[in-house]
Amino acid sequence: MKSEFKASITRAVNDANLTGALGKFSEAYRVNRTKAYEGIDFEALRSRIAEAKSSAACQLDRLADIFQKNAEALGAKVYRTRDPEEVKQYILKVAKDNGVKTVVKSKSMATEEIHLNPYLIKNGISVAETDLGEWIIQLAGQTPSHMVMPAIHMTKEEVADLFSKEVNERIATDIPRLVKVARNELRPKFLAADMGISGGNIAVAETGSIVLVTNEGNARLTTTLPKIHIALVGVEKLVEKFETVVPILDALPRSATAQLLTSYVSIISGPTPNDDGSMKDMHIILMDNRRTEMAQDPKFKQALQCIRCGSCLNVCPIFRLVGGHVFGGIYTGGIGTILTAWFDELKKSEDIQGLCIQCGNCTQVCPGKLDIPEMIMEIRRRLVLEKGQSLVQKAIFGVVNNRKLFHGMLRAASVAGKPFTSGKFIRHLPLFLSDLTDGRSLPAIAAEPFRDTFLKIKQPRLKEKVAFYAGCLIDFAYPEMGVALVKLLNKAGIEVVFPQEQTCCGAPALYNGAYEVAAQNAVDNIKALLQEDVRHVVSACPTCTVALVHEFINSLDATGQKQWLPKAKELSQKTVDFSTLVKQLVDEGRLSFKEGEELGKITYHDSCHLKRTLKVSEQPRELLQKAGYEMAEMYECDMCCGMGGSYSMKLPEISGPILQSKLKNIKETGAPVVAMDCPGCVLQIRGGMDQDGTAVRVKHTAELLAERLKD
Ligand code: SF4
Ligand code: SF4
Repeated sequence: MKSEFKASITRAVNDANLTGALGKFSEAYRVNRTKAYEGIDFEALRSRIAEAKSSAACQLDRLADIFQKNAEALGAKVYRTRDPEEVKQYILKVAKDNGVKTVVKSKSMATEEIHLNPYLIKNGISVAETDLGEWIIQLAGQTPSHMVMPAIHMTKEEVADLFSKEVNERIATDIPRLVKVARNELRPKFLAADMGISGGNIAVAETGSIVLVTNEGNARLTTTLPKIHIALVGVEKLVEKFETVVPILDALPRSATAQLLTSYVSIISGPTPNDDGSMKDMHIILMDNRRTEMAQDPKFKQALQCIRCGSCLNVCPIFRLVGGHVFGGIYTGGIGTILTAWFDELKKSEDIQGLCIQCGNCTQVCPGKLDIPEMIMEIRRRLVLEKGQSLVQKAIFGVVNNRKLFHGMLRAASVAGKPFTSGKFIRHLPLFLSDLTDGRSLPAIAAEPFRDTFLKIKQPRLKEKVAFYAGCLIDFAYPEMGVALVKLLNKAGIEVVFPQEQTCCGAPALYNGAYEVAAQNAVDNIKALLQEDVRHVVSACPTCTVALVHEFINSLDATGQKQWLPKAKELSQKTVDFSTLVKQLVDEGRLSFKEGEELGKITYHDSCHLKRTLKVSEQPRELLQKAGYEMAEMYECDMCCGMGGSYSMKLPEISGPILQSKLKNIKETGAPVVAMDCPGCVLQIRGGMDQDGTAVRVKHTAELLAERLKD
């Protein structure tokens, strides 16, 4: 990561105005969005949207033909181009041909995408943004930080300063007063404008209409008062049938601003008369800018299902901490990273792709059903293919791909780390490693890894066998979690086997785009874990479970190693996460816990991969309650803890504040114990609690359940 990019992150996280504004908004958004969707089957709604938009993406040219025919029949002029430069030239030509001196604009990300304002201004045309947020950032000389709320990063005090300069008078920081100033300043601009430029939220092929969804009424004035109206619409806004407008309108305001409906929905079907009786000169530009190319890419076609609601930004732990400007481009957040890689160039996403912690929050709320983290992983893969891995990564992954060497180095690290170890923690590391222990202690490498301890565990010989996949953290940092798992399964009449050839699950390589390395890890683990006939392969680390269930298949497929796919699928079907397996055993009456003792409050932290990829959240809670605990839910129990594997090492300036929020939410429950199913989250949260000096026990669910087994 470039140092100026790192510096921009540091500036953002230390900007109290920015983090305050975004934090307040995202807190309220979460609650309000839930209310707005009450009584609505969100899954069914987003499936309808995704199907209609996906079908449209398969036939963009055909829909554009139909749209053009129908819009022209209504009297509009339709211009189609793949090239953003031609869009600008077309608009300038219309302006020059008609002697246009002033333009008013309503909010349009497509015009931002092609940098239309500076182009028109350079060519002598004055441009006024009329959406309040857009006007604010125009006055501030900034780009939008959010696709729906462009000035969300600014406080009312900052806006008051800007307005005061504009009107040459001190304006109070009172929102109604600020809105009044904007209205007074913008009205004359509407009346004087020669041309209005808008975007379009939906373009309906069968009617040739464009649909505009706004809250301020400025789009109506922009599209009706000037004699010329140009609508710039990305071709991904095309839908075939008018009926698709309904689900999009059901979702867009709810997802964008948690409103049931925006104040204005305008459906424009052809030009309308001006007040002098002449007809408006209406132009609709259908802009491609690599969208049809995207539609032909199997990994990125889904990006065209986006309805630009911005809800992925509102729930993103990274966006709400750093805001939009660190993304450097017009589109921000996870979806912005993808659009930048396409509409700008892949290289431009090189730094910003690293901001995604792969928590999956965005995917959970996206009304277009986009899998943003998956597409960001694909960007990483393509960047590595294009540029190769860095020398440091090559060296690290070279070791990870050699199990004996890798495990030998971990054993050596257990000894080498001793001078820095105090009890079970490493609290301070020297020199350039000091960032790693900033705000979080690290676990000491275990004196004896689980793979050695396992050989000493005396298990009964049992008919039913389950293979245990430990993953690096349980194997080398937290062997006690593995011991607890064996104890629980033995009690349920299951013998645990531990194939010693198992190695890293490949997640660190995969999340850094090194698919070849991850695929080699997949092959090694498939060989190890399928060598014995077992009923299940169980893992007590959700990241490893996701690797075994999904990512082995993905990395082998992506690297063309199709011969391994049947085995990878067999392993996927056999793999189960710890809590799901234990819940099943309890339900079958094969496992029970001590009764008659109340253990008091416990709170539970949902690990991202367990909750959102594996869809497991109730099982551990039920088990802990059956074991005698009283569940006290924390605020944002399913928000990422900031660990994200190597993320916390690469971006401690982001990981640190996210961890602090998590610690605060845990402490506010008053529970003396916090449980979780992920050793990575244990590392982060236990290390944070240690540095914080708080006496909250941080435990893997397996350890807590094993303590409660009946004798
Ligand atoms: S996966 Fe998480 S971090 Fe990545 S873009 Fe989505 S919400 Fe943000
Ligand atoms: S990716 Fe999904 S959540 Fe994000 S703006 Fe697009 S539709 Fe909305």
